[in-house]
Amino acid sequence: MSELHYQLDLLKAMNQKLTEKERMYHTVFESAVGAFLYHSLERNQVVTLGQWKEFFDFDIRDPKDLPRLLEAVDESYSMALRDVLYLEKTAQDTAFVECPLRETKIWLLFRARIYYGENGRPVDKVIYISNITKFRTQNEELTYMAYYDSMTGLFSRNYFVRLLGDYLRTAAETDNTVSVMMIDLDDFHKINDGQGMIVGDELIQQFGSYLKELCENWDVTGCHLHTDVYLVAIYGPSGERTMANLHKEIQQRVRRPFRLSNGQELQITFSAGVAEYPEASKSAIELINCAEIMVFKSKSMGKNIIQYFNTPVLQEFLRTAELESKLKEAVFRHSFQMYYQPQYFAGNKKLRGMEALIRWKDGQEGMISPAVFIPIAEKNGAIIPIGQWVVEQSIMQYAQWRRRFGHPFIMSINISALQYSREDFVDSVKEVIRKYDVEPSEIELEITETILIEDFQAVYDKLKLLREFGLRISLDDFGTGFSSLSYLKKLPIDTLKIDKSFIDTVLVDSATRVITEAIINMVKALGFESVAEGVEEEKQYEYLYSIGCDVIQGYLFGRPLAVGEVEAILASAWQ
Ligand code: C2E
Ligand code: CA
Ligand code: CA
Repeated sequence: MSELHYQLDLLKAMNQKLTEKERMYHTVFESAVGAFLYHSLERNQVVTLGQWKEFFDFDIRDPKDLPRLLEAVDESYSMALRDVLYLEKTAQDTAFVECPLRETKIWLLFRARIYYGENGRPVDKVIYISNITKFRTQNEELTYMAYYDSMTGLFSRNYFVRLLGDYLRTAAETDNTVSVMMIDLDDFHKINDGQGMIVGDELIQQFGSYLKELCENWDVTGCHLHTDVYLVAIYGPSGERTMANLHKEIQQRVRRPFRLSNGQELQITFSAGVAEYPEASKSAIELINCAEIMVFKSKSMGKNIIQYFNTPVLQEFLRTAELESKLKEAVFRHSFQMYYQPQYFAGNKKLRGMEALIRWKDGQEGMISPAVFIPIAEKNGAIIPIGQWVVEQSIMQYAQWRRRFGHPFIMSINISALQYSREDFVDSVKEVIRKYDVEPSEIELEITETILIEDFQAVYDKLKLLREFGLRISLDDFGTGFSSLSYLKKLPIDTLKIDKSFIDTVLVDSATRVITEAIINMVKALGFESVAEGVEEEKQYEYLYSIGCDVIQGYLFGRPLAVGEVEAILASAWQ
């Protein structure tokens, strides 16, 4: 009996030990990240542990139910999962598979392992299941982003550059060429600013998708570089497969509008630049840069055209870039100087005034013409500090001369459109005039028709303010712009300067004579004063005087002069 008791006690103790161990295992499994499926192959029993319920809405207690797992995952992965679930049937010890769940799209990693008994027979199988969704999607995104542009489906910029590099290497080995075209939508910022980013983005996306399809059809490589800029590369262009033909095809497409999801239709044009290996460059990045410079050129030539690489265009670009950086330094160092060109009354040849003309003396290059650097300064904004300096310098100089020579004359100052469009322009001029205590009626501002690209009313209001203050206004370069006679009537101005191009041909071309006479008559009728500029010959002067031109400016009577030379003229002007 005692033996029996002893046996029973032992069994109880063993059972207790077992449940303790079991509890311990359970606790460990429950706190584990993931789920476990334990399959005793010997006893043919299954237990699920850990976070099973987070992944599956069913439990598995019997090996017969294992196929439920195959149904839970995405169909295309069930075959692969089968090999993992029934690992004991294969000759391997371990196996794994990554697959998404059919319902929740959660990505799971199934890892299976077989444990063998002493006799070498498989006894246990454990399948560990973990959630890898975060890792998978991140990885997918990263892979996609590395190769493709998510907006358009075209290649990404980095991948394109890599492909282009490969093309160039192959081309070098096989003596072939590679052509790169950059495409830049015209006036995209107007669409983006005017109609909003959503419209802008949809256009970028639609054009990009079109380009992607086109590239696939043509078997060429396309990329979305940034915003509204795209790249296409053709390896070994020949026959029909050339940039010219591709460009033609895209042009044909954009003749039809792009229809947005809100029903709106957008008509666009684009500018293109082409550079070819090895002519333009031997490096992928430089080739893209050259194509970009050609795009700048097509934009500056009025957009909607294709510009092919050529060395003079590249040199011109590099020169402008060089001047641009030098100009910034010149502004900083004040490397400018004012020259003054006299203007005379045509009738009595008495001094009427001086036109202030800026000069830039560069340490290395000597004099750089304002005809070259003013347009650059207008583009990069440097004209604002330069123009302000010109106004201050000329008025200060005039104040000095006015006191020293005791006689009034007119100081004409050139004002660029950008300068004029500044909100504080009127006030800044008034301030300088007050500061140097000069008579506003002795200062004349020369403006050109380009200021009229702004809202006419705003331009008009400013002119009125300036004139009410007492300043004179002169319309410069008349005849080179759109020179509409109807707006001329409405402009509050005092003087009109007939452009040099008329004066150049007035003696030899009868049509020019007719127009010049008409302008002068009209100026008289409107009560303005006429100035002819660029008068170089006595005969030009005589003719202009005979048709009633009021003022003459030109090399014939005097070139633009430095301060000392002007003073010599002023000293004898009123004697
Ligand atoms: P612009 O306002 O039409 O100035 C007249 C230009 O014609 C000046 O060139 C002058 O030197 C030149 N000129 C005058 N008479 C003759 C002549 O008989 N024959 C020839 N061949 N040329 C003559 P410049 O000084 O080189 O200036 C060129 C342009 O640069 C100016 O044209 C003006 O648009 C701009 N500019 C010059 N100084 C300034 C300035 O201080 N501010 C601004 N905004 N623009 C300026
Ligand atoms: Ca002028
Ligand atoms: Ca002029």
